[in-house]
Amino acid sequence: MSADALPVEPVLRVDADRCRGHGLCYSAYPDLVDEDGRGHATPRPLAPAARTAGALQDAGDAVENCPERALSINGFAHRPQI
Ligand code: SF4
Repeated sequence: MSADALPVEPVLRVDADRCRGHGLCYSAYPDLVDEDGRGHATPRPLAPAARTAGALQDAGDAVENCPERALSINGFAHRPQI
């Protein structure tokens, strides 16, 4: 594990009832979020080597920039402090 690696995976979760398929998240953060084939967001699992503080920063940005508040990280709807 690299010095930058986090001990847990920053898993983005998508509230399907809130997601309106704007595509902001998967356009800006394709390493973290994919498109489900119908325009809605679906989380992309991170390989252990990709679980970095930078990935957590990007996940926090994705959460904060979703206009529908459809995203959360590990169940938290705010940016975790690292
Ligand atoms: S930005 Fe929010 S509403 Fe838009 S696709 Fe992503 S999760 Fe869905």
